[in-house]
Amino acid sequence: MTLMKCGVNTTKSLKGIMDFDPIFRTVAYFSMEIGIKANMPTYAGGLGILAGDILKSAADLAVPMVGVTLLYRKGYFTQELDINGRQVEKPAEWDPSEEMELLPNEIIITLEQRKIMIRVWVHEITGNTGYTIPVYFLDTDIEGNDPKDRALTGSLYGGDERYRLCQELILGLGGLRMLRSIGFNNLRKFHLNEGHAAFLVLEMLREEGFENFQKIRERGVFTTHTPVPAGHDHFSYELVEKVMSVNIVNQLRKMLSQEGVSMTELGMRYCSFVNGVSRKHAEVSRKMFQKEDIHSITNGVHPGTWISPEMKLIFDSSIPGWINAPARMVQSVNISGNKIWKAHMSAKSRLISYIKDTQDIRLDENILTIGFGRRATPYKRADLIFSDLHKLLDIASGKIQLVFAGKAHPRDEGGKGIIQKIIGLSEVLGDNIPLVFLEDYDMETGALLTQGVDLWLNTPRRPREASGTSGMKCALNGVPNFSILDGWWIEGCIEGVTGWAIGPEAVENFLSSYDETKDAEDLYRKLEEKVIPLYYKDREGWIGMMKNIIALNASYFNTHRVVREYCEQAYGIEFLGM
Ligand SMILES: *Cc1c(COP(=O)(O)O)cnc(C)c1O
Repeated sequence: MTLMKCGVNTTKSLKGIMDFDPIFRTVAYFSMEIGIKANMPTYAGGLGILAGDILKSAADLAVPMVGVTLLYRKGYFTQELDINGRQVEKPAEWDPSEEMELLPNEIIITLEQRKIMIRVWVHEITGNTGYTIPVYFLDTDIEGNDPKDRALTGSLYGGDERYRLCQELILGLGGLRMLRSIGFNNLRKFHLNEGHAAFLVLEMLREEGFENFQKIRERGVFTTHTPVPAGHDHFSYELVEKVMSVNIVNQLRKMLSQEGVSMTELGMRYCSFVNGVSRKHAEVSRKMFQKEDIHSITNGVHPGTWISPEMKLIFDSSIPGWINAPARMVQSVNISGNKIWKAHMSAKSRLISYIKDTQDIRLDENILTIGFGRRATPYKRADLIFSDLHKLLDIASGKIQLVFAGKAHPRDEGGKGIIQKIIGLSEVLGDNIPLVFLEDYDMETGALLTQGVDLWLNTPRRPREASGTSGMKCALNGVPNFSILDGWWIEGCIEGVTGWAIGPEAVENFLSSYDETKDAEDLYRKLEEKVIPLYYKDREGWIGMMKNIIALNASYFNTHRVVREYCEQAYGIEFLGM
């Protein structure tokens, strides 16, 4: 394998016009969603935000990548909550031309025997040393296309199976054709972020000849993101035959072992490097897919995006260069506790003011504030803390306040029910335990929340949380986690040092059931015996924990480290210096 050299020090000489020349780009990153900022609603949640964070760190580190995704003129959706606590979905309104530039390139793909024209917008991510990474957003909303096809790049995770299949074909086939049309002729690695992107394999084979499996395998990198079966796209041949040509369908039948098209199987079989997104998730995936060689690269978050302005000031002055070498955050144990606390309180005030402005509820700065922000879906168990209301009131009346946020997928009735239940409980808990549900959890409210709460709660049913990244945003801001031992927290939790674990140790590595009542019991016990006493009776101890989670977790669970691991293990790119 050819080794590519990269890294900030070595690429200085490449700066200038050559940076933008497609010929120097060697890694293409394909993702159904990419979240870059709140006013570009081209993401739904963790998967897209991770993709954006990875590309941002790649820009900071001058890794020669490009990103490809779809435009989504109506975004995922904007969440409103009605008077009964029911989620109402509104299309997200935005104007792509404010954030990106339309290119003249147009390509064509054929779906359902109709030719569909695809054009492309580009948004450039500029890293903190000036290197830029272009992200391409494919768009079918063009005059001349059938109205049905114009809507195909309209909403993320909307529509039916046919709609999803067409979107994934646009991403995989259209994406590579578009890159070629722009001039990317030196790509050596193709990173398929989740199964949605796996049709890329077909286009690579079309280019290389269908007998050249080995060649395209060597170029493919596939990341799987969830052990939950519903998260893996699967299309019946009946549907696939309606949308794609007979030749391609026959080809797919030869390539896959199962009945129907499993996008995960397509990715896993035709990419030589496959990984899960935490150590535990890789282990679960090996079992789930009966595949030994699934690597693990644990997720992270982009430091510059998720740190609060107040904390950033402290790090900038105390740990020079940390922003592009976040491993140096290990030194944060030496920062004055007083400074850290002040920065935290300022972020907390911002959250409290936001809540006052949007909901007319005034939370108390001096009360331990616990945050929970997750996609609302049953396995994430947002309501675990309410399993025994008497007990909760008994332990925590007057001592905690709760801030929740999260969208439910429009078709996830279970998830919508959870939101409604929690909002309903705010009346039951009253002034004893003030409870707020923030509307429209997105990158902006996500940042506000993970910077401004005192403690981050996470209570998924194990082992379904592949990694989780919101807790890492908290770590960056010195907010300890209080979480079920699943995903990244198995690696990040040092009991009583970086936060606390909830429930028994993670031993099951398959989706088997376990005694879930233990989780709630343990949550209450630790809240009463450890969390509340430390917060109110040993503030210095609490601040020590804040420094620890920065030093021990934020220094590692960041996308700079993630990108370096992908470079070294999957892309064949070597770092020099740094
Ligand atoms: C960080 C983030 C997520 C992903 O966090 P998880 O811990 O994986 O749930 C989802 N949505 C928003 C808005 C975020 O900021």
